[in-house]
Amino acid sequence: MKLAMIGFGQAGGKVVDKFLEYDKRTDSEIVRAAAAVNTAKADLMGLEHISESQRVLIGQSRVKGHGVGADNELGAEIAEEDIDEVQGAIDSIPVHEVDAFLVVAGLGGGTGSGGAPVLAKHLKRIYTEPVYGLGILPGSDEGGIYTLNAARSFQTFVREVDNLLVFDNDAWRKTGESVQGGYEQINDEIVRRFGILFGAGEVQEGQEVAESVVDSSEIINTLSGGGVSTVGYAEEEVEETSSGGLLSRLRNGEETDELDTAHTTNRITSLVRKAALGRLTLPCEIEGSERALLVLAGPPEYLNRKGIERGRKWLEEQTGSMEVRGGDYPYRGSGFVASVILLAGVTNVPRIKELQQVAIEAQDNLEEIREESDENLEELVDDDEDELESLF
Ligand code: GDP
Repeated sequence: MKLAMIGFGQAGGKVVDKFLEYDKRTDSEIVRAAAAVNTAKADLMGLEHISESQRVLIGQSRVKGHGVGADNELGAEIAEEDIDEVQGAIDSIPVHEVDAFLVVAGLGGGTGSGGAPVLAKHLKRIYTEPVYGLGILPGSDEGGIYTLNAARSFQTFVREVDNLLVFDNDAWRKTGESVQGGYEQINDEIVRRFGILFGAGEVQEGQEVAESVVDSSEIINTLSGGGVSTVGYAEEEVEETSSGGLLSRLRNGEETDELDTAHTTNRITSLVRKAALGRLTLPCEIEGSERALLVLAGPPEYLNRKGIERGRKWLEEQTGSMEVRGGDYPYRGSGFVASVILLAGVTNVPRIKELQQVAIEAQDNLEEIREESDENLEELVDDDEDELESLF
């Protein structure tokens, strides 16, 4: 499906930049238009693929291009004040050619955390296309203020979008890694998962149209109904030759046609299980998911309807959902078969409850500390007997 992607804040901009790079590299054609919005000039300058005309610096009169310093209330205020400047960049997007908007932001900071929900609300008011959010949760080691920002932004963002796709940095953090190096890998993971998912609805010219290709409308229908979504992924390398590796092996080798079909089917069902039971972008209980979409991507000779159908049934049992869609995404030249599972409308998410708990504690602590330091300052500045008089 074709998306208009808008990255809000540093993380949002970087991830959209990476989506553009992925799009160019793989010819996925999912990014019909891309823009980045920020209060920090340096962050916008660091982008590589988003064109300069589509980088919008907001809040210049308030923060002079230096960012909002993790103050997401200020981020939201500035986004509201300068929404016309953001709209200026969106005006150049051929909206009739996009299937949906995707607003991407890290929820722990200030600009994206505050601004992304404001932008989503604005887009929903103006356009009829669905507006999705991709919200990135902070690592639990980032500290109280980031957790508080994320919890407040998450709550607001979910209400303003047609669906909030969530990626949890905490679940993907590797110990002993530099933050920067870690983000590189994490961003690759984000783009791979969501790239294949959204690419599924966009069969390129010259690609074989397989038996049951996933269509954009199936992605949209799975995401419709709102709420929070998570994505599972698993892949397996396969041998791929331009003439179709499988067929040539069949002719030369001893394997029979049936055996290979069985093998293909089994590979698919096992990939479906691995994707659903492995690490999700937002870890949660898959039971109780309202809707799901299963996408099998890979060279067409490695995809078959039976495998997908079995995988779909298994997902129905595991989620208890009556709305599990499935299909394939013929994808040549990658050398792998991948299973991507979109679980939409998940509600049993311990990580969110934990985030909220820590956020409430941080909020209480912050208030206490603020009151205490006000008192301490007063004590320091005022003389004990109140004998001194201020100048004015
Ligand atoms: P903003 O510019 O004020 O919106 O804030 P940032 O985007 O810099 O940071 C917000 C949060 O996003 C941080 O707390 C991190 O959890 C996360 N973050 C920052 N940069 C990246 C990145 O490149 N990738 C990912 N996955 N997360 C990031």
